[in-house]
Amino acid sequence: MPPFKVIIVGGGPAGLIAGHCLAKADIDFVILERRASHDPLAGGSNALWPQSVRVFDQLGLLEEARKIYSPVNHKLSLTGDGTAYYKSDLFAQIEVLHGHPFTMFHRGELIAMLERRLPGRAERFHTDKQVTAIETDESGVCVVCADGSRFEGSMVIGADGVHSTVRQMMLEKSSNKSEDNAMETTYVGLYGTCSPLPKLEPGTFYETHGSGYSLQLGVGQTCGYFLLYHRLPRPTRARHQFTRDEIEAMVDKYADIHFTPDYSMRDVWEAKRWHHMAHIEEGLPKTWYGERVVLLGDAVHKMTPNVGFGFNNGIMSAVALTNGLRKLLLVTNKKDEGIISTQALQGVFADWERLRKPQAKKAVELSALYSRVVAWDNLFYRVVDRYITPRLDGDVLLLKTLTSPLVQEGLVLDFVAETHFKEGPKRWKIPEMKLATVAGSTDGEVKDGAVSDSQ
Ligand SMILES: Cc1cc2nc3c(=O)[nH]c(=O)nc-3n(C[C@H](O)[C@H](O)[C@H](O)COP(=O)(O)OP(=O)(O)OC[C@H]3O[C@@H](n4cnc5c(N)ncnc54)[C@H](O)[C@@H]3O)c2cc1C
Repeated sequence: MPPFKVIIVGGGPAGLIAGHCLAKADIDFVILERRASHDPLAGGSNALWPQSVRVFDQLGLLEEARKIYSPVNHKLSLTGDGTAYYKSDLFAQIEVLHGHPFTMFHRGELIAMLERRLPGRAERFHTDKQVTAIETDESGVCVVCADGSRFEGSMVIGADGVHSTVRQMMLEKSSNKSEDNAMETTYVGLYGTCSPLPKLEPGTFYETHGSGYSLQLGVGQTCGYFLLYHRLPRPTRARHQFTRDEIEAMVDKYADIHFTPDYSMRDVWEAKRWHHMAHIEEGLPKTWYGERVVLLGDAVHKMTPNVGFGFNNGIMSAVALTNGLRKLLLVTNKKDEGIISTQALQGVFADWERLRKPQAKKAVELSALYSRVVAWDNLFYRVVDRYITPRLDGDVLLLKTLTSPLVQEGLVLDFVAETHFKEGPKRWKIPEMKLATVAGSTDGEVKDGAVSDSQ
């Protein structure tokens, strides 16, 4: 019988981070990605919150991450005509409260780094592999790709994004077929990167608030990251690919709305390097796993990116799943024999869902609330956001009361020590992972888990 092996469908951020976590746990895996290659220029910003920085530390990725992330300190809130009405040190406070900083990456660079540093990448990361079918039986799975290739393993992780094929295939076998409609779109996002315009202030995150829209612009080391949210007349569950004309119409509509006191949408658009327009779905499907298949990342918890929690939740889910799988394999001692029953796997999946679903729900809800407040969805939100928040230093107040508790709940690999542990006054619910305390260790030694920062 071949050893226990996980087949990860999707080589986006969640699939890659799952690969890193499994590698640390010494669990074999492959990643099947439908794209032929990764475009390092593609994507806007992708920020990590301190709970994810802890995991990057455990995965030995921190040093390299430090070279490519941009620090953010302040947030400047504006109205559409470019009037700045509130400056807060929100992002600096995140580091003060939690020890680790808020780190802003270029998505393309972050994915490239995760791919480059993937242990055993040459044998494990397969591109041009669009998964079209999954066959499961009591002893394992066989994943079939569009080119006819087949990959055998013990279980599947569906990390194939918001329109997950794995989710559809899983639900087809279950009684909840209608549930694939769990994702709903209220906002459309037009996002991308632009040249570092001269009057953009490094370390500042600009956010424009208005009726039915909001804009964000983060200033990175080598570019600006822009994001326009436009509220649809009514929410939809339909999918849509935007045409060039629709994108131009959106730019025209917001051309005079300001991203910063000095730059309007028109200015940023003229300086753009890369862009994309898409529905920003929100949702939390009821079913998270079936048979030997489990979902991960945007496939199972999708939120608006206003708070920057999407990938962070993918990281938390990958961590929790890895901890559970590793424990199962240690207890059953079958890692090398491969025969783990579907029932045993489902026990891990159920525990994982019980832990992660309430956390992800809070992240989806907080993101949804924030998106609607800054887009002045109603008069109450508008008054609070425009007039009360600045007087109370509301950004920092909301951070302390609503966001920090979610950060504090952050999960870590329970078998890998943290080499750069940090903590602030908002203490971690899971304390520092030290050599002597990690799961499965004896006499200060880590079993089955590496602790080096140089993998
Ligand atoms: C503008 C913007 C800004 C954001 N900013 C942040 C932020 O600051 N912080 C944060 O935490 N999150 C942020 N997010 C959210 C974050 O980008 C997502 O949560 C994250 O990309 C989800 O990763 P994923 O791997 O689950 O899905 P995806 O990124 O969608 O990746 C899925 C992968 O699966 C592949 N795939 C799909 N179908 C198949 C198939 N059948 N076979 C094989 N492969 C397949 C795809 O090609 C893709 O590579 C942002 C999102 C947007 C749009």
